[in-house]
Amino acid sequence: MELRLAGTHYPLETLGPGKRFGVWFQGCSLACPGCMSRHTWDRAAGRAAEVSDVLARWRDALDDGAQGMTVSGGEPLEQAEALAALLAGAARLRDGARRHEGGAGAGPDLLVYTGHEPGELTRGRRAALGCADAVVVGRFRVAEPTRLAWRGSANQRIIPLTPLGVVRYAPYLARGAEGPRLQVVRDEDGLMRLHGVPLRGELTALESRLRQAGVVLTGRSWRP
Ligand code: SF4
Repeated sequence: MELRLAGTHYPLETLGPGKRFGVWFQGCSLACPGCMSRHTWDRAAGRAAEVSDVLARWRDALDDGAQGMTVSGGEPLEQAEALAALLAGAARLRDGARRHEGGAGAGPDLLVYTGHEPGELTRGRRAALGCADAVVVGRFRVAEPTRLAWRGSANQRIIPLTPLGVVRYAPYLARGAEGPRLQVVRDEDGLMRLHGVPLRGELTALESRLRQAGVVLTGRSWRP
């Protein structure tokens, strides 16, 4: 099965606990004002990828000791069928690896970000999330800044969906995460990517500091 992909990255360290495999779906029609990922809105942009190829990268990450997969976007639920296939395959590979380790209550978790509100999670959308261990729900609201772990605005909630999700995320439902909130990486196309959830004003401050150092950013995904 094919999906429209904005990118993948490993190791991702700012969207969920531990060292993770990140998958960004391409396409989002929710258009939250202030979104930092406007490059993921256009469904025709990004690139086509086979779910099996993404899963091969996940297998490599598991072999390296990845502690989870984070799926974001874009809006993953706008490709519900591909999301379901990706999560099912990721859970199968994870459970195979976990059997060797003999632990059922721990191990790599599957976290999905969606801009949909809990009341918008129709039966079909919930089915697509069937293999996720936890989900971060809710639109990004620029007027509601927060320091809550892995969330961009105070309205967004982490909902654990499985016992593993409870183990990994219950400690963070109402508190911040340790460690940096933003990770800078250079992707395979040579572009600079910022992964994570910045605090209010952090991107403007970054632009300003870079400008003072003689670096001018172009094509910023957080600017219209
Ligand atoms: S914040 Fe997320 S849901 Fe909102 S427009 Fe950006 S990618 Fe879409």
